[in-house]
Amino acid sequence: MSQPEELPETMKAVQYREVGTAPEVVEIPVPRPGPGEVLLKVTAAGVCHSDIAVMSWPAEQVPFPLPLTLGHEGAGVVAEVGEGVDTVRLGDAVVVYGPWGCGTCVKCAQGKENYCLRAEELKILPPGLGAPGAMAEYMIVDSPRHLIPLGGLDPVRTVPLTDAGLTPYHAIKRSMPKLVPGSTSVVIGAGGLGHVGIQLLRAMTGTRVIALDVSEEKLALAREVGAHEALISDDEAVGRIRELTGGRGADAVFDFVGVPPTTAIAQQCAGVESDVTIVGIGGGSVEVGFGTTAYETVVTAPYWGSRSELVEVYDLARGGDITVHVETYTLEEAPKAYERLHANEVRGRAVIVP
Ligand code: NAD
Ligand code: ZN
Ligand code: ZN
Repeated sequence: MSQPEELPETMKAVQYREVGTAPEVVEIPVPRPGPGEVLLKVTAAGVCHSDIAVMSWPAEQVPFPLPLTLGHEGAGVVAEVGEGVDTVRLGDAVVVYGPWGCGTCVKCAQGKENYCLRAEELKILPPGLGAPGAMAEYMIVDSPRHLIPLGGLDPVRTVPLTDAGLTPYHAIKRSMPKLVPGSTSVVIGAGGLGHVGIQLLRAMTGTRVIALDVSEEKLALAREVGAHEALISDDEAVGRIRELTGGRGADAVFDFVGVPPTTAIAQQCAGVESDVTIVGIGGGSVEVGFGTTAYETVVTAPYWGSRSELVEVYDLARGGDITVHVETYTLEEAPKAYERLHANEVRGRAVIVP
């Protein structure tokens, strides 16, 4: 076991402390890694809209005790390792694979820890969504298995890839057979996930990308990152998509908002044999039954992505094809970042730099 450098006694952390209240910056003890664990000195933590959803849940729906240190997109440098950890070294620059699983069930064995079959039984929760997260000066990672080397990339500019990259990557990868040249993809919501999703579609497929959003600024960002068309997401959007596709409709729709108005658009603009992927957790749904969607439309709602896919996302980023647009904030400014995200004002992803 390596000897750590001098660690401070306490650190700043951004915590969701009580149901119905805004996150707060507090001073808490620096955690020390137990056997098999790794302590990271955090270099960057992304701010995801899912946190806002979680913080709006009533007390009986919150599946973890409060206070909770937020941050499920994390990057850091290994600061101390627990007993038995010999696959990472002090000073290694890494990012955290967030959807922690047991590591041994059949889904985990396939690298799909996001679909761990025993997480509930074993009470395994992701950092920032149950376990203490990355919005702090230090964080514990439960196993070196959940660390991926940064390989020279900038942690601040790439930490959103751990979720805002991985989640769209997984969704796009499963629709790849439909995203041939001549196909059309619709991306609803050009925010954190959507603006990376557009770039992934351009880098990975030959599809034409139509982006929808309610904000002109987001549509400008969508065009800047490669959308061929960017349209206001309203009642006319479906007709416009039909027009742009010669009546055929979209071959794949990725809904990064997931509220009833957007899932309705997704359902209506999806063409025959298309995929509709609902990523946003806004309570919208698409009914499947004869006549509700175009023939053989596949509707799915995935969660995050696999460990191997996260490695693929970072390999892709290393090739220079993906630029995450980031706004940076200090830990003290994190509550302001959440306010801006809530007001749809963040351009790309907000990233906390401790
Ligand atoms: P974000 O706030 O960065 O982006 C959302 C975007 O949607 C913004 O650009 C906003 O202007 C736009 N928008 C809002 N209402 C709209 C509407 N009616 N029509 C079109 N556009 C609209 O959020 P994010 O962090 O990218 O997260 C997006 C969604 O994905 C959230 O619901 C989040 O909880 C969810 N999410 C799901 C997973 C998963 O694994 N399924 C993972 C991460 C995030
Ligand atoms: Zn998230
Ligand atoms: Zn498992």
